Order: sequence, then C-alpha cells, then structure tokens
Amino acid sequence: MLNDLTWNPLAAHARVLDALGTLGTIDERMARVGVSRRAFLQFCSSLMIAAPFGLAITDKKTPEDVAAGLGKVIRPPVIWLAFQDCTGCTETLLRTSHPDLGDLILNVISLEYHETLMAGSGMQAQQALSEAVERYSGKYICVIEGSIPTRDKGVYMKLAGRPAMDVLAEVGGQAAAVIAIGSCASWGGIPSADPDPTGAVGVADLLPNKTIINLPGCPPNPYTLLGVVLQYADSGTLPEMDAEKRPKFAYDRDIHEHCPRRAHFDAGHFVKQYGDEGHREGWCLYEMGCKGPDTHAGCSTRHFNEIPDVWPIGIGAPCIGCTEKSIAFRVPMFKVVQIHTLAAPPSTYAPINAPQGIISPLATGVVGLAAGALAGAGYIASRKFSTVKDDESTPGSSITAGKGQPGGESQSDRRSDTGPDSGPGPGSKNQP
Ligand code: SF4
Ligand code: SF4
Repeated sequence: MLNDLTWNPLAAHARVLDALGTLGTIDERMARVGVSRRAFLQFCSSLMIAAPFGLAITDKKTPEDVAAGLGKVIRPPVIWLAFQDCTGCTETLLRTSHPDLGDLILNVISLEYHETLMAGSGMQAQQALSEAVERYSGKYICVIEGSIPTRDKGVYMKLAGRPAMDVLAEVGGQAAAVIAIGSCASWGGIPSADPDPTGAVGVADLLPNKTIINLPGCPPNPYTLLGVVLQYADSGTLPEMDAEKRPKFAYDRDIHEHCPRRAHFDAGHFVKQYGDEGHREGWCLYEMGCKGPDTHAGCSTRHFNEIPDVWPIGIGAPCIGCTEKSIAFRVPMFKVVQIHTLAAPPSTYAPINAPQGIISPLATGVVGLAAGALAGAGYIASRKFSTVKDDESTPGSSITAGKGQPGGESQSDRRSDTGPDSGPGPGSKNQP
C-alpha cells in the first residue's frame, strides 16, 4: 500500500498543495507521503511499458535505473486548465486500476491548479491560479483539457468572467511549455464536430509561437502525459515529435499493425453486425467502420487502467481514430477507411506442411490401398459430373497454379492491389 489514506482525490490534492513553495525532489515527496519503494518501482515499470523507447528517462533502462533517476527530479509544477471538455482526460489520470497508483501520480507532479480536483472555488480558486502563475512564471507546465471556443469573441466559455481564449493567452503564454491533452485541446475534438456552434479550436491555433505538445486521444493514456512532463522536469527537453506535434514514443504505431484481431483481418474474418457470431468470436471490426488502419496510437499495446484488453477494440468496439485530426468526429463512425499500408489480407496462404513421421510398411500398404480405391472412385465421379476440360470453377483447380503459389501471383502483385484506387480487398465492396 502506498499510504494509509482511503483514496480521495481532494485529499490527494490537499497533500500536493501542502508542498507549495517547497517542491522538493520526487524521492523526498515519496518519503514524506509514505510511498513504498515497491509502489514507486511499479509506477516506473508502467512508465517504461508506455514508453519502451524514445523517452530519455526510460530509454534502455531498468525500472531501478528509472526510479533512481526520477527520484532526483524536482517535482514539476503543473497548472491544469479545463475548457470545453467532458473531464474524461482528467478521469483517465485518476482512474487507475489501483487507487494508490492514482494517488502516486498526483504526488510525482506538483499540481498547482486543477479546478476539478481542488477544494477551493470562486475567488479562492482565482487567487490560487494567479499565485501559481506568478510564482512559477516561465517554469511551469500548462496542461489544457478541452477545446477553446472562438466564435463571437469566445463568449461561449468563460472563466471568472473572462473568455477562455484570454485565460489561455495569459496562463499558457507564461508557461515553459503547453501540453494539449486529449483530442479536444489538440484540435477541437467533439465540440468542433459539425456544425461546430462555438467555433471550437485546439491550443496550437491560438498559441502559434509557443512550444506545444499534442497528446490527442479520447482520452489519451495518462502515462504519455507523465512521460512528457517528467522528461521535461528531468532534462528540460521534450521527446521527439511528429508533424502533428505528437510525441513519437506514444504515437508512432499504427493500431492495425499491432491489433490482436489482425489475424482475423488477414484471414478475411469480419464482424458484419454487433452481436453476430463473428463479434462473439472476436473477429476483425474493419467492416464495422474500424479506423485502426489509419490511426497512430499506442492503444493496441498499452491498454488502459493497467488492465489487459481494456481498450476499444479489446472490448469489441471499433477504433474511431481519435488520435487523428482528420478522422475522429469528422468521418462517420461506420464508414470504412481505405487501406493505405501494405496491410491487406493476402489472397491466399502458403501451404502448411504437416510434420513428417515414420510410417510402418504395413500402414503404408493399407493407406495405399484405401487411397487407390478413393482415387478410382473420384476419377469415375469426375467423368460423370465434369464435362468441361480444365474447369476453373472446380474446387481446388485454382490452387495448382493460382495466386500465392509457385508460378502464381507474386507478393508485390498482391500489394499493388491495395492502393487507394483499387480498394482494400475484403472490405472493398463497402467502399463508398
Ligand atoms: S478528448 Fe475526449 S475525453 Fe478528453 S475532454 Fe475531449 S471528449 Fe473528453
Ligand atoms: S481493422 Fe481494426 S479490428 Fe481489424 S485488425 Fe485492423 S485495427 Fe484491428
């Protein structure tokens, strides 16, 4: 157990606020709130699973190395603002499978302001925000959750009487770096879906000259946030990012390439309807509109709440492409996507060779007699039923010189069938 307190976000936050002015190292904080070494190592292991490479604090290290390095880091001050959001991104940080772990997360960082978690409200809350901005100006990390309304001078969302746009400009403008957590803060998300009544945009649209890190997802994995924040606190650097300002360590993977249902895609086993036999058997959700082939995220290998298979496809729901700016809340949920990668079901498979055993001469003779009788019967039957020479429709006739066999269609030939113009193979009949 991390400590003897019953899990309570408010109590956890009170302990964080208690350290204001004396941030201290993570080791000092762990000792002060009674976190065991074992629990801290568990946290470091989770961080390593979330960032197997590409994150300086975990790269090529053991959990002990990570714990030793992180222990010396000064807890980074974080100011968290929530705009047009559903609070799902906050929930993902708090709802770990072990409440103690959620508590630990709030102790690794120094959360100076977070409306959902803090006890204060009204003037008290405003004062806490002003003080935190002033005290850590230029040194804190500003986390933004939710999109920002811009239509009609931002009147659709105000904080203490000021449009969210103005609050973002002031608080985000003085931060060392701004992290847009979730799809809403990254590029508008749900509030920006058609007809977008509030003119919702993401952080990067309003702070074009600021260092921004986008962590899209609905919600994103909390360890991705922690990885970025802790690397920054440790070395003042940020992990390598892609063109969409997403850290590569968490967004370099294509869901489809690492999906546990991929074998069913390759075999052409598709769910046709929720609750059908294929759905119950865990078949591929491509024809149900799964956007996995066009989506970069780590969900297929880094599940949620530290519970195996807890992620959309794991529980039988298609991926909606929430980490992609042009897909989630833009493309209809049941519309199938084109397959752009080499990933398409093969038209056939290489033969599987049964292991060769030692067969006795007697058994060989018996099998030979039986095979001879069957072959004779088969020949007579074929003379009766097949009158067309080299009939292509005869079952098995395409196998002898067909696709995928020696002399048949090559792998590259098949891949060329998967281009945008030719459709994805089994799902092509569903292409609009
Ligand atoms: S990204 Fe998703 S979880 Fe996060 S605030 Fe938006 S709707 Fe909620
Ligand atoms: S289409 Fe979706 S469910 Fe099917 S293998 Fe790809 S990612 Fe998995």
